[in-house]
Amino acid sequence: MIDSIYKKIAIIGLARSGKSAARLALSDGFEVLISDAHDTPKLRGRAEKFDGTNAVIELGGHSDKIYKSDMIIVSPGVPLNIPILDEAKKRGIPVISEIEFAFRHEQGKVIAVTGSNGKSTTATLIARIFADAGIYTLLAGNIGNPYSENVVKSTPESVTVLELSSFQLEALDTFHPFIAVLLNLSPDHLDRYETVEEYYEAKFHIFDRQKENDYAVLFADQPEVVSVSDEIFSKPLWFSSVQKKIQGAYAQQGIIYRNEEKIMQVPEIGIPGPHNLSNALSAVATTIPFDISPESLRTTLKNFAGIEHRLERFLEHNGILFVNDSKSTNPDSLKFAMLSFDRPIVLIAGGYDKGNNFSPLRNIFKQKVKTAVFTGDTGESMANQFAKNIITCAVISDFEKAVRRAVSLAIPGDVVLLSPGCASYDAFNNFEERGRFFKNLVRKIIEGK
Ligand code: ADP
Repeated sequence: MIDSIYKKIAIIGLARSGKSAARLALSDGFEVLISDAHDTPKLRGRAEKFDGTNAVIELGGHSDKIYKSDMIIVSPGVPLNIPILDEAKKRGIPVISEIEFAFRHEQGKVIAVTGSNGKSTTATLIARIFADAGIYTLLAGNIGNPYSENVVKSTPESVTVLELSSFQLEALDTFHPFIAVLLNLSPDHLDRYETVEEYYEAKFHIFDRQKENDYAVLFADQPEVVSVSDEIFSKPLWFSSVQKKIQGAYAQQGIIYRNEEKIMQVPEIGIPGPHNLSNALSAVATTIPFDISPESLRTTLKNFAGIEHRLERFLEHNGILFVNDSKSTNPDSLKFAMLSFDRPIVLIAGGYDKGNNFSPLRNIFKQKVKTAVFTGDTGESMANQFAKNIITCAVISDFEKAVRRAVSLAIPGDVVLLSPGCASYDAFNNFEERGRFFKNLVRKIIEGK
C-alpha cells in the first residue's frame, strides 16, 4: 500500500505486468482504468478476470479518459513515445513504468540485473544462491513473476532479484536497487535504438538513482562498462575472469575468489563456457554485502545447471550431443555458444532480422564450426557475412527442413547446436516456442519420423 496524492491511475497495456500492476493499484484503493491498443480473445479473457472489481477496461484503442487520471503506469512492452503518452506528459500527468510502481511498495532489498546477455541465467543463479543460504528470496521482472505481483510478498528481510531489460529501465523515478548488476554490453536491438551508444545509455539508467549505501556490480573486462564507474554514486564491486585481486569476484589460476577468500575451482561450476564463468563471478560479487558462507555459495554454483533454452544439453544419441540455445538472439550469444564446445559443431543459426552484424564472428566460426545450416529471414545474409568461402554451409529458410538437414549432417562426436543469434519472430511467437519445437523435432527425427 502506498500513500499517495493520486486517486486515479491509468494502466497502459494489459499484458502480464499490466495485469499485475492493475491488481496492485486496486488493492491500494485507486480508481483504475486499464487501456490496451489491441483487442484479442486473449485480452478479453484477461479483462473478464477484472469483473467484480472497480476497474474500467478499454480494449482496441485508447480514449481521452486516460487524461483524467492522476498517474499513468506503462507496461514494459508499450513504447514510451506513443501519442497518448506524449499528450499526457504535456498535460503534466506523471508517466511511470510498472517497475517503478512496484518499487514504491518494496519492503526489502533489491538486486537488479541488466546487460546484453546472461540476465536470466544470472538472475536465476543469484536467486538460487540467496535462497540456498536461507534468505527469503523472490525472483521477478523478465523472469519469474511480474514485479508488481511479487512485491506484495516482500518483507524487511527479503531479497528480490529483478531481471531488467533496457526497456524496463525507462520511466523510472525513485527506483534504486541495493545492488545493480551490469553484466556486459554488446550491440543489440538496433531496430529499436538509433545507435549503439543510445542502447548502452539505456542500460546505464539502472544506476541513475542509486545512493552511497548501494552497490554497483560491474564487469571489469569491458571498457564500455568500466567507463560508467566514474559517473555513479554507489560503491563499485567488480567481477573479472582475467584481472586479479580486485574488490569483488575474480578467477585466478583456476580458482574463484570473493575478495581475498577462496571459494572453489573454476571447473566445478555447473554451467558451461567462458561467458558463464563471468555470470557466476558477477553472482559471487553480489554476495559480498551479505553474510553467505563460502560452502553454501560453492554448493549452489556446483549444482546450478542453467535454465531451459540457454545452451541446454537436452539429448545425447549415438554419440551426438544436441543443444538447444534458442535464447541466443544476438551475435554475442552466438559467439559464446561456439566457444562453449570442444567438439565439432553442426550449427543451426538465423531468424528474425534486427540489423545485427555477424562478420566479427568469422574467425571463431572458422575454428569451431564444422558445418552450418542458416535459416529464417537472416539465413542468406548470415551465410554471406561470415560463412561463404570459409566452410561449406547450406541456406534453408524453412526451420524444420533446416533442422532435418543439420541432423543428417552430424556424425558421432559432433554437437548439433541451435544457437540462432537472432530473435524468433520470423517463424515463431517467441524463443520458447522455437526451442520446444526444435527439441520435439529432434526427438521425432531420432525415432525415424
Ligand atoms: P538474457 O536474459 O540477457 O537474454 P540469458 O541468460 O537468457 O540472457 O541468455 C541468453 C543467451 O546468451 C543464451 O544463448 C546464453 O547462452 C547467452 N549468454 C549467457 N550469458 C552470456 C554472457 N555473459 N555473454 C554472452 N552470452 C551469454
